[in-house]
Amino acid sequence: MEQNIKSAASRNDALFERAKKLIPGGVNSPVRAFKAVGGTPRFVQRAQGAYFWDADGQRYIDYIGSWGPMILGHGHPTVVEAVQKAVLEGFSYGAPTEREVEMAEEIVNLVPSIEMVRLVSSGTEATMSVIRLARGATGRSKIIKFEGCYHGHSDALLVKAGSGLATFGSPTSAGVPPEVVKDTLVLEYNHIVQLEEAFSLHGKNIACLMIEPIAGNMNFVRASVPFIKRCRELCTQYGALLVFDEVMTGFRVALGGAQSVYAKSIPGFKPDMTALGKVIGGGMPMAAFGGSRAVMEHLAPLGGVYQAGTLSGNPVATACGLATLREIQKPGFYEALGARTRSLVAGLAQAATQAGVPFCGDSEGGMFGFFLLDTLPQNYPQVMKTDSPSFNRFFHAMLDSGVYYAPALYEAGFVSAAHTAEDIAATVDAAVRFFASK
Ligand SMILES: *Cc1c(COP(=O)(O)O)cnc(C)c1O
Repeated sequence: MEQNIKSAASRNDALFERAKKLIPGGVNSPVRAFKAVGGTPRFVQRAQGAYFWDADGQRYIDYIGSWGPMILGHGHPTVVEAVQKAVLEGFSYGAPTEREVEMAEEIVNLVPSIEMVRLVSSGTEATMSVIRLARGATGRSKIIKFEGCYHGHSDALLVKAGSGLATFGSPTSAGVPPEVVKDTLVLEYNHIVQLEEAFSLHGKNIACLMIEPIAGNMNFVRASVPFIKRCRELCTQYGALLVFDEVMTGFRVALGGAQSVYAKSIPGFKPDMTALGKVIGGGMPMAAFGGSRAVMEHLAPLGGVYQAGTLSGNPVATACGLATLREIQKPGFYEALGARTRSLVAGLAQAATQAGVPFCGDSEGGMFGFFLLDTLPQNYPQVMKTDSPSFNRFFHAMLDSGVYYAPALYEAGFVSAAHTAEDIAATVDAAVRFFASK
């Protein structure tokens, strides 16, 4: 593994200084600023396969993959070819194209709960539009979300739990008026009793319950099977829509998303609505939401719920997404990806255990998480108990060894099909060195 060369004339430092003068915090999305872990963000120059190179020419094994989309690794030849071909045909028309139809067909074929789908350009747009659609279709106002789940940055979803049990939340961002989140009920993840209480108090007014079924925005926390089962039962009983936010997990944890993982334990399980993003664009701005025909027909131009987008179903993005979706359907793709990801988590666990460092980890498909704790957290307050200074030391030691993990404790990690057994071994070696030096 190449060692990080810390030179006085670091281009990363110079770029960060330049960026900070013009872009708030020097970045176009907050987590990129390294605020949680400290230090200078790496400015990426180029990427190939499992690696990217920063502005100083340093190579990193990439365990973020653009926060999930790059499931094939960077610069997959088939995807690059599809994008190059699409670019030559045209960038954007504001009129329908055949590839949008193909994209819809792929999604509907791969995700059984989706009968109709609409393409948008970001996960935020997908979840925001699902909420409006759920409210429009049910004629109700209230929504349920869970503490620690991230659903993008639309106003109604930037909410934290209120002070009491099953109370309505307060904004987590300045600029979100309290009246905008007054209908958002924030509950504890995996807490069945609280969920039941919320439905018994507000059930008839709840338009939808939105959940990250495997939460990747509080590191990696699975919703338990009994919890998901109860979510499904209560939504059905009270006529609320069950919305799976699979922007991260869709096509990442399994070909059919997290819902297909739960359907193995809960026969016939389906959410009513699903938000998709990240992998479906293969690294281009694309996301989608879909569900039953009856609900989707409420969308304009068929129904009264308005939703639109100048770049929605963009021809270059659909080319990239389609090529990606076709690659991941090849036989054995998820078996290999899952095995590689499990070998990483097992290797890290062994490295920590040998050094007497508490460690626990979990993964599904190509998504993983780990904590420097003895037992896996089940909800956000438990995640918050993690010791972040030790994570930050781990993060920087790995970075110096050329391994790039998410620069925050509260983020999941991603393995791509391009990561080799050698990449995993090199990563584990770096972890062994770190744990031994502690
Ligand atoms: C990334 C993410 C979003 C937001 O998607 P953007 O494309 O960043 O707007 C929403 N929900 C989940 C679960 C996500 O991981």
